[in-house]
Amino acid sequence: MNVNLQTPIVYLKGVGPNRAETLQSELGIHTFQDLLNLFPNRYIDKTQYYKVAQLQRSSADVQIKGKIVHIKTVEQKKGKRLVAKFVDDTGEMELIWFRGQKWIRDNLKLNEPYVIFGKCNWYSGKFSMPHPEMELLKDHEKGLKISMQPVYPSTEKLSNKGITNRVINKLVQQLFIDTKGRFSETLSQPLLDDLKLLPKAEALFNIHFPKSQELLAKAQFRLKFEELFYIQLQLISKKMVRKKKIKGFNFDQVGVLFNEFYQNHLPFELTNAQKRVIKEIRADLGSNAQMNRLLQGDVGSGKTIVAVMTMLLAIDNGFQACLMAPTEILANQHYTGIIELLEGTGITCALLTGSVKKSARRPIHEQLESGELQILIGTHALLEDKVQYKNLGLAIVDEQHRFGVAQRSKLWHKNEFPPHILVMTATPIPRTLAMSLYGDLDISVIDELPPGRKPIKTVHRYDANRLKVFQFIRDEIKKGRQIYMVYPLIQESEALDYKDLMDGYESVARDFPLPDYQISIVHGKMKPADKDYEMDRFVKGETQIMVATTVIEVGVNVPNASVMIIESAERFGLSQLHQLRGRVGRGADQSYCILMTSHKLSAEAKTRLETMVSTNDGFEIAEVDLKLRGPGDLMGTQQSGVLNLKIADIVKDNDILKTARFYAIQLLKADPTLEKPEHLVIRHAYAQLVKHKNIWTYIS
Ligand code: ADP
Ligand code: MG
Repeated sequence: MNVNLQTPIVYLKGVGPNRAETLQSELGIHTFQDLLNLFPNRYIDKTQYYKVAQLQRSSADVQIKGKIVHIKTVEQKKGKRLVAKFVDDTGEMELIWFRGQKWIRDNLKLNEPYVIFGKCNWYSGKFSMPHPEMELLKDHEKGLKISMQPVYPSTEKLSNKGITNRVINKLVQQLFIDTKGRFSETLSQPLLDDLKLLPKAEALFNIHFPKSQELLAKAQFRLKFEELFYIQLQLISKKMVRKKKIKGFNFDQVGVLFNEFYQNHLPFELTNAQKRVIKEIRADLGSNAQMNRLLQGDVGSGKTIVAVMTMLLAIDNGFQACLMAPTEILANQHYTGIIELLEGTGITCALLTGSVKKSARRPIHEQLESGELQILIGTHALLEDKVQYKNLGLAIVDEQHRFGVAQRSKLWHKNEFPPHILVMTATPIPRTLAMSLYGDLDISVIDELPPGRKPIKTVHRYDANRLKVFQFIRDEIKKGRQIYMVYPLIQESEALDYKDLMDGYESVARDFPLPDYQISIVHGKMKPADKDYEMDRFVKGETQIMVATTVIEVGVNVPNASVMIIESAERFGLSQLHQLRGRVGRGADQSYCILMTSHKLSAEAKTRLETMVSTNDGFEIAEVDLKLRGPGDLMGTQQSGVLNLKIADIVKDNDILKTARFYAIQLLKADPTLEKPEHLVIRHAYAQLVKHKNIWTYIS
């Protein structure tokens, strides 16, 4: 039969309908191509031969040359086992079979040199190897020199159904036979030459059956590069299309308001990072194209002032601006803060949230439509249909991970033309990942904290030391500081967590009794009004301790709070711990973060705690988080499911990613439509990838 890479896997010799179904459900293999792209997880090095005397108790799979000198069947409680004595010139060991004994007994040759391969056990003073792979030495020496054996991804169901690694190995070999290993090239000659890449067919052969370590490394490089290259090509070309097609309002005026604010209203000197970011934004706004920029900055890095100055640019050019926050508390804080900054500028600014009364909404709606209102700050309420702008020129979204894509596009469609979009996030997405995930967005980073901040001191304490911790809290409160105590709240065990929280609250209330101490409590089961009331008391300094769940995670700003105690810290993820810690360290005083845990800690939990103790750098923490959890779990990327890479690793292959990005940009600059003859191969491969959905579907 004439096969190609789109041939259904059922037609591969050795597969058949049953196996085809299992391969499909377990590994997503539908076609020849899918199997070809099932890359081994690791390789067993068969270039080495061990001597029996060299065996170690912890030995991994090993390969040994020797002879069987004796074979016998041993009765055991249940059934029998076949035991062979295997020797080389340094010692002896046993080979053992529980299954297929008759066949083995009939076919094994005594006193002939064999090569055996497998995992050794150490049992009652002797090494043994159960069910070894074996081959006569003379065949071994004749055979295809596959020095490294591929180990493919597997699942329990696969092995239960007899689709072992060996079977997959055979199937892949069969695939190479059926297709004669002729796979067309998918990268252009200039790329192959420039980067000295292996040709596609050779790379595929060596990824499955490496002829040497060196060729394996080259094969891996080539395939990783290719994977990342096509992703970058897709992202960058989308961005180019957007830049060309989506025209934006041109804010060419750096007008009176901006300049006046810069000279007379700035409450502090901008950091260099803030200045750089504002410059980047200004360049976007004056480029005739719509801005789509992600502003990343750790908690407390000063994103708000950047937002305000961007809004001034919009207003200076005769447009309105809005800012949307994920919670009412945050929207309130933004509103208060921004009103304060804009005092004396004459700019009109209103707050619109769910709890703004109907009677108060009407004037907001009216002034928004007449253009009298220049800045609108609020929550999801901004997305309601009644909210109509005269001319919205800029939409700022704070803490984007709380907003879905659909919601963002709702803002977008408010207008005849799309407003410029600035998305602000404190979720530190490592550059590597950001580049891949948001390759179509422009990214600005505030990588510098305002001067004079004292780094937060973070310690890890066991529950047994609680008394000491409480004493420390008393001392801090005596100095006039305020304290957060946060309890985990994880969906699956909500009832239990809730009990933890209430128990915690009671014990804190006992140790910090009225009237000397006032305690606020905030959790998700409270009515919003009660929550706000409790929160407000803490913000005003009427309570010294805030017992809460992670509802306080985002954005709350109480500069006088100097201690963050995180209970059961081992149950929080790294990014959450970091966000929580960011609630303190906002004032002039030394701040502390105390991570409380029990003694039972997993290795991963220990790494998380150690990371928190050793660094305050959100990006460093995000990199560790990425390594611990893998990109799929990273905050804000769960839904996207975009990082389904076949061979490249976004963390480890950072350099290859950079190279791929560089070449993708170069290519698209030189030949945006891939029309030049030497680029035809890329255009074709790209079209194939898109057609068969073998390329990322990414969030837009
Ligand atoms: P975030 O990036 O977390 O939104 P904010 O914009 O709320 O940070 O800023 C955090 C605090 O730092 C605010 O109190 C703000 O007034 C202050 N701040 C921002 N930029 C500077 C600066 N350049 N110099 C001094 N303080 C600053
Ligand atoms: Mg903020």
